[in-house]
Amino acid sequence: MIKSRRTASKAAALLVLLAMPSCITAFTIVSRQPLTSLHSSPVASAPLYASSSDSADEEYSDDFTGSSSSANSKSSSNSDETPETEEEFNSAAEEWAAQQAKEINAMTKKRYVVVGAGWGGWGAAKALCEAGIDADITLIDALPDPTGATPYLSKTGKPVEAGTRGFWKDYPNINRLCAELNIAEDDVFTPYTNSSFYSPDGLEATAPVFGEARLPFSIPGFGDSDQPFPMLPSPLGQVLATFPLFERIPLADRASMVGLLLATVDCLGNDEATQMEYDRMSAHDLFVKFGLSKRLVEDFIKPTLLVGLFKPPEELSALVVMELLYYYALAHQDSFDVRWIKNGTVADSLVMPLAEKLQNVYNLKVMGGCRVGEIAVEKDENGKASANKITYQNSGGETKTLHDVDGIILALGCKGMESVVQASPDLARYQEFSLAASLKGIDVISCRIWFDRIVPTRTPANVFSRFEALRGAGGTFFMLDQLQENSPDLWGAAAADVLDDEGEVIESTRGSVVACDFYNAGGVMSLSDEDIIKTLTDELLPSAVPRFADAKVVDSWVGKYPGVVSWFSPGSYNKRPPLEGAGDALPNVKCAGDWVRMGDREHGAKGLCQERAFVSGFEAANSLLRSTADAFVATQVLPVREDEAQFKAAVEVNKKIMGSGLLPRFWTR
Ligand SMILES: Cc1cc2nc3c(=O)[nH]c(=O)nc-3n(C[C@H](O)[C@H](O)[C@H](O)COP(=O)(O)OP(=O)(O)OC[C@H]3O[C@@H](n4cnc5c(N)ncnc54)[C@H](O)[C@@H]3O)c2cc1C
Repeated sequence: MIKSRRTASKAAALLVLLAMPSCITAFTIVSRQPLTSLHSSPVASAPLYASSSDSADEEYSDDFTGSSSSANSKSSSNSDETPETEEEFNSAAEEWAAQQAKEINAMTKKRYVVVGAGWGGWGAAKALCEAGIDADITLIDALPDPTGATPYLSKTGKPVEAGTRGFWKDYPNINRLCAELNIAEDDVFTPYTNSSFYSPDGLEATAPVFGEARLPFSIPGFGDSDQPFPMLPSPLGQVLATFPLFERIPLADRASMVGLLLATVDCLGNDEATQMEYDRMSAHDLFVKFGLSKRLVEDFIKPTLLVGLFKPPEELSALVVMELLYYYALAHQDSFDVRWIKNGTVADSLVMPLAEKLQNVYNLKVMGGCRVGEIAVEKDENGKASANKITYQNSGGETKTLHDVDGIILALGCKGMESVVQASPDLARYQEFSLAASLKGIDVISCRIWFDRIVPTRTPANVFSRFEALRGAGGTFFMLDQLQENSPDLWGAAAADVLDDEGEVIESTRGSVVACDFYNAGGVMSLSDEDIIKTLTDELLPSAVPRFADAKVVDSWVGKYPGVVSWFSPGSYNKRPPLEGAGDALPNVKCAGDWVRMGDREHGAKGLCQERAFVSGFEAANSLLRSTADAFVATQVLPVREDEAQFKAAVEVNKKIMGSGLLPRFWTR
């Protein structure tokens, strides 16, 4: 639903207001009505004429310009004091009209609240701000400062981040955000990087940058060895490019991956009912049924899932595993290519400039340190329900309430949803919210270690696989000194601590800075911070890269985040919150976040993914505006790249075979 621009003049505003004084006055004395009933009232369109100077004016519809054309005709005032000259008449009338307009505006101006300021919440806030409507938009989060303006620091003043996040090839909406904020992608992201897999046996595999891969050997028709790799139909390119890079896993084991390709075509190429059958199955069952070798699963797929979906195959929905596999690895030769933040954090590189723009240009109000509790729902005289009151606790511990809310986007993760729904009996009555609140999240731990010397590693991004010390968790370590060019900023204030006789910083004291994350970290959670760092520095890091054994820890930080990450468990699909919330039963509450089911608006970005969360925010805002606003500018969502022809063809062939009834889908139920 796209609206064009409003050009209604001040004169038009005057005329319209003069023409309906009684009705306006009536509205100035009633309390705010539920939006739905306002829409059906003749005054609902009044604010479209009422304000002439705010920036949002530009976005209103030409439809309303039509009405403004009558402004040139004269109209008599019903004011008691008759102005003597035409000028006086105009001035008094304009003043009166402006006052009336202000009052109507205050009454009919929409009040939207986005709860949760992750990528989902920021996407929603952005789309609401840019919708060209007259609205007060508030983003509220429990974090002290969700705008990214206040850096998170360790106790010793060094910058830290809750997890290191990569940006994969197909993140078109985040890339567009950079362009909109005038951020050059090369300034904010590193080049695409390789990553390595380490097990107790040493290096298992190194993932290349597929977009820049070189031929491992001469291939007739494609070129000689070490020539740049041609873009090949997926998955041929991936198979060839990784051929020499698996150090240990035998070819026969790798070849067993083909079973997974068949399942992926069958699952992703079919309708929602079939996909739900796969969702009820665990990825472990799928691997067994489709003949994947135990070695391939144990040494490669399981550690990949532990760091991609943060759970082992037996605890993951087969559907989401295939979505992840397809989106991040199979769709195109270079789908697996990933880059990282080049300076600082996601919060200060991307969120902060976005927050500044939305606050400065659109008056977005951001409320940090505010934990939302109850969301209350009311019914109007026609029995139509709307959520209109949000209670929260601010950082000072006071309980406050936002009243007269017209629309809410719940951009909460699973833990936040659980706490809000538990505190909101009205919301809990809708099964969409109570089911979402029943889903549990995954524990993660983030660590940062500052070493006294540079430790060279084969690649900057690395995965731990099969180590006993992980206690069932997945693990990664990122060489921030490599990704961020050994920036002194990685050391915070301490960067300037050690000076030579001339007062210059002795850079040699600044060694490697390593960010380590544990996913599915339940088994590690109860260890003390000191023991977690010891596990990393005494066992995990030196087992992967022996030179860590020589490096001394200068400082360290551990952040524990229990139950915060979306867990795509078997059978969770129909409990995940729909983008539309409870739909028509409660049209002014929508949901955003990586775990949201987007229905007709489903996007190609899948899994635990910033792009997915961001897009879901756009879609939730568009949906809320469709339900609550007369006219708005919808945020356009960029799709990921189209499926390649061979995938589409495989889907068609599969549909024919499965549709013929010759091969019952006996492996699902
Ligand atoms: C360690 C780690 C590594 C990751 N790596 C990657 C990666 O490499 N690439 C990638 O694309 N993605 C990665 N992800 C996933 C990605 O970060 C998420 O998918 C995405 O950030 C989810 O955004 P969201 O808006 O859905 O949820 P969240 O970011 O969880 O936002 C929810 C917000 O709600 C707030 N909240 C909760 N309860 C309340 C309440 N009661 N009142 C007010 N506010 C509340 C929270 O404070 C939070 O800010 C990673 C995640 C983690 C944890």
